[in-house]
Amino acid sequence: MFGTGLLKGLGVTLKHTLETFADDRGKVPDRYRDSIDLGHGRRIINQPIDQEGLLTIQYPEEKRQLPERFRYIPMLIWDTEKNEDRCTACGICAKVCPPMCIWIVRDADANGKPITRPAEFYIDAAVCMSCSFCTEFCPFDAIKMNHDYELAVFDRYPQLVYDMEELTVPLEYYAALWPSQYAAEEEQRRKDEAEKKAQDEAKARAAEAKAAAKAAEAAAPAGERKATSAEELKRKAQERVAAKAAAAAGDAGPGESVSAPAASEDGEADAKKARMEELKRIAQERARQRKAEAGE
Ligand code: SF4
Ligand code: SF4
Repeated sequence: MFGTGLLKGLGVTLKHTLETFADDRGKVPDRYRDSIDLGHGRRIINQPIDQEGLLTIQYPEEKRQLPERFRYIPMLIWDTEKNEDRCTACGICAKVCPPMCIWIVRDADANGKPITRPAEFYIDAAVCMSCSFCTEFCPFDAIKMNHDYELAVFDRYPQLVYDMEELTVPLEYYAALWPSQYAAEEEQRRKDEAEKKAQDEAKARAAEAKAAAKAAEAAAPAGERKATSAEELKRKAQERVAAKAAAAAGDAGPGESVSAPAASEDGEADAKKARMEELKRIAQERARQRKAEAGE
């Protein structure tokens, strides 16, 4: 029938109006559920994604609660524990910024030598496109995205060009704005530090052991050192003879027993002779076996 759709639409609007009116009569209207009351009519409203009915936020008194990953203009982190800027003025953020709206001037010491600290840091908020590339690429977690979006001013210059003072926030501010990201970063930082500490300790222990061995060697009398090294050489020669004998025994194959040659203290010549004798004996043994098998 002509006009049915129109009437249906008006009916939906009327239903929402009545529901909202009834809801507004309640002690705590639905839209204020889970909201944060800041006093003097100011509220932060946590608007659910599945909210039904009419919902008008009375901005600027009422504001919507922003999700953690909301991003607007970058901010620089001041490490309150170390009492210093996290930024080292490496310039990576300025290089990766697509609209090139970051300027950095590196600080210098009394002799004019550059140091890892920014003397000046500017971001042109009118150009920044909130892409967050700068924060993704910063190797020191020194730049993060701020949630502050109320930046309206009458003149673009110089108000929208933020300097270091305006950009810098304490670490706690970032932790409150990005709680889960901050927690993950701190966890990773703790792990890295523990790993580095363990590596440093292992290195220090190895260096200590080396130094102690050197000191002991230097402290031993010269004659004793000589005797020790002569004994060492003799021991090594004996080990070589034993290893060769074992190899010869391995060559003999399964089922063949090979008596280990007497370890000659005269070194390699004796070992070689013994091995040759053993090999000869094995060859004769095999020849005898072959003859026996052939029925000769
Ligand atoms: S904010 Fe990060 S990337 Fe940018 S200059 Fe500082 S340390 Fe380097
Ligand atoms: S958010 Fe993007 S555009 Fe803005 S300063 Fe960082 S890299 Fe540049």
